[in-house]
Amino acid sequence: MKILLIGPQGSGKSTQVLEQNLQIPYISTGDIFRQIAQQNSEEGKKIKQTTESGKLVDDQTTARLLEKRVKKSDCQNGFILDGYPRNLEQVKLIPDLNFDKVFFLKIPKEVALDRLLKRGRNDDTEKSITKRLALYYQQTEALLDYYKNQGILAEIDGRGEIQSIQDEIKKSL
Ligand code: AMP
Repeated sequence: MKILLIGPQGSGKSTQVLEQNLQIPYISTGDIFRQIAQQNSEEGKKIKQTTESGKLVDDQTTARLLEKRVKKSDCQNGFILDGYPRNLEQVKLIPDLNFDKVFFLKIPKEVALDRLLKRGRNDDTEKSITKRLALYYQQTEALLDYYKNQGILAEIDGRGEIQSIQDEIKKSL
């Protein structure tokens, strides 16, 4: 089972602990980049700068890293993906992701902003948060129509309790 979670930052994608239930790994490209950003290499420094500013890492680099991750043996039975694709170009770069289901965690913009400001992660400054959300609305929301047309999109109200969101997701699988 290959699942994609789409939603603005702050919609609770990473708190959806579906992996225990479904026994497939949760993969977040943001986590992958935050890990690389800790390395003292040229690539690490560059990625740190990009993620902290809230901009997107270039599509080629992102696709290369994600492809490497989903080829690992723990992904044999699928995965829950959070953070990729972020735009239609990234869809084209890895055409064989073949999601079975795409969940859109919908929350109002103000709620997303409020949650992010309270989260206080290292790369969360007001400026980077605003940038990330703007990019999300500009680029990532376009993917919703794409997956809707494939008939695999399910919309979930992301404002509810974690448990009820989980239940809703499991019900529609
Ligand atoms: P996230 O945890 O998903 O909000 O991602 C944190 C940061 O990692 C983003 O602000 C981007 O700089 C980078 N990132 C994560 N996923 C992608 C992606 N698919 N394409 C480009 N950059 C990404």
